[in-house]
Order: sequence, then structure tokens, then C-alpha cells
Amino acid sequence: MKQLKERVLLLAAGMFTAGAIAINQANPVDAKTSAVKVVSVSSISKTTYQASKGYLYGDAQLTQKRYNLRNYGKLVFDASKRLTVKKPNGKQAIYYYVTNKSSKIKGYIWHGYLTKVQVPMSEKAIVKLIDQAPDMNPVESIRDLKPINYETHEAAFDLAYNVFHFSPASMFRDNQASIYVPDSELSQHVQAAMAKWNTALDTTVFTLGTKTNHTLTISFGNGVKEGWDGLYDGKAIYVDKAHYRDAQYPGAYMKPELAAKFTTDQYWDGVIAHELGHTLGLDHTGYQEDLMYAPNSMGNVIAKYIWKKPVAKSATGLDGTEMAAISERDLNRAKLAKILGYW
Ligand SMILES: [Zn+2]
Repeated sequence: MKQLKERVLLLAAGMFTAGAIAINQANPVDAKTSAVKVVSVSSISKTTYQASKGYLYGDAQLTQKRYNLRNYGKLVFDASKRLTVKKPNGKQAIYYYVTNKSSKIKGYIWHGYLTKVQVPMSEKAIVKLIDQAPDMNPVESIRDLKPINYETHEAAFDLAYNVFHFSPASMFRDNQASIYVPDSELSQHVQAAMAKWNTALDTTVFTLGTKTNHTLTISFGNGVKEGWDGLYDGKAIYVDKAHYRDAQYPGAYMKPELAAKFTTDQYWDGVIAHELGHTLGLDHTGYQEDLMYAPNSMGNVIAKYIWKKPVAKSATGLDGTEMAAISERDLNRAKLAKILGYW
């Protein structure tokens, strides 16, 4: 019953809004005010503005108030002329002559009521910029664009850098997730993994939470059957208990010369840091040195291209998880993911 009532109320509210707009459009303001003197007029290169308040005057002398912009939502205008006027009190003011997209609403408006509209780059220009930058590595030229470009072309950035909005907005509050670790055995690894990201990003993105106050849990799970040592399911992170409890894992199961290059503790730090990378919005890459490396693209939600062997091998022969190291590429992707609003 409650639901039905709400729907009816919503409908009524919607009707009222529609009616209000119709009335305003039928009755533009047309009050007279005392005239100003036009001191100078100059044409300006076409610039797009938004205005949601102030009056639009029908004449350069500002005697005809045509529209109260408060009644029109956010109108988008192109400005083509700039006027300097002298008011009856002797003060000068700058007005712009503007026309809305349909050319139906036009007139003179005080410049202070206008805010410049950010115009996004074209998709083609974005793709060109990405193509000029290193593969899978959003260097500064990719990360210092106007915000409107990331909003408009989010999908293009996702695909170019294998990033995706994996985590619910509730996980990162003020760009921080607080982590609860019910299994104390995992604490040291979680803290090491958190520190790696916090240090690399030079900000506290991960903090330790409590049982009653946290946004992300990291606990043991069973991954042997499904073939994972670490898993992020979009809500929580799990670490495979059987492999974790096996002190010989993973070294005893690899080539001894590789196993000699890292420790078991380092491996579990890396597994958790890798899963934290997923929470930030990072999917796998094919670069072996990356913390976010995977041997193939099969498990990826988003992939710029398919890989079945490393796109590039690491110098050590170890992958980023075994090295428990955040590469420059990992870091730049995490910075891009922040810009895209994923954490
Ligand atoms: Zn992964």
C-alpha cells in the first residue's frame, strides 16, 4: 500500500513540474527597467555558457526583462557579443548577448550569471591520445585532461586500460576503504599489502577498520577447487585457506631457481595487494612484472586485447604478485581509476 501511495505522489509531483514550466514559458517576464547606455560592443569568439539565474533582457538598453532564468532550469547558451554598459548610477557592467541552442531564447545577460560549459574532446581525439601513450599505462598526458572527458568517455578509458568500476560506492568513503580482518593470521599480510598501496599512491587509501566499523572484509575462503589463492567478489576479499596453511606453497611447486627469489610471506602480501588492486578498479594486464598480471585474459571483465602468454616478461621471471610489487603501470592505472571515480 505504501508503494502505491508513493507512486501516486510522484505522478502528481511530475504533473506539477510540467505545468509550472508551461506557465513560465507562456508568460515571460516583460517588466520595464530604466535604460542603460551602451558604452561599447565587441564580438567574441563563440563560447558556450550555462545560466540558471538572472534576467535575460530583450534589448541592449536593458529595458525589456524577457526571461527570469530561474524558471528555466540550466539553459545552455552560445555567447557572441560582449557589451559594456553604463548604468544610471554611473557604474559600468559587462553583458553578453546569448542565444540558446534552439535560438528561441536570446538576449542580454549580465556576465556574472554565466558559467563556462566544459566541452568534452571527441571520442576520436581521446582514442588518438591513448594510442600515442604507452600500452596499458595511463601516463600523465592521459590523466591530466578536463574532468568532463572522463565522464564522457569513461568506456574508452575502461577498455584502453582494463579498468572497471568493480566496487560499490559504499566501499570507498572519501577515497578510503577500511578493512576488517577477522582471521588474525592474515593481519600481517593485509597490513603489508595496505602499506604497499598507501605508499605507492602517497595517500591513505586503505585503513584498518573494526568488526563493527569497516567497508571491506578480508578473510579465509576455499579457492583450491576454483583455482584461486585470492579472490575479490565485488564485496569482500578471500584468501585460500588450504594453500595459506601449506608452508611449502607456492615455492615447492615451482622451479627451484624461481622459488629461491621470493618468500612465502612475500607471496601472500602480493596476493592480498593484488586483490586490493581489484577493489580499486584494476583488472588484469599481460605484463608479468605488474601486480595485476594474469597469465591470460580469460578471467578479465574488460580487456583491451586478448593475451595467452605474457605481453612482456619480467626481468626476474617472477610475476608482480610473487614480487609483491606495484609497477609504474599498476600505479598509473590506479591513479586513473581514482579520476574515473572507482575509489
Ligand atoms: Zn586477479
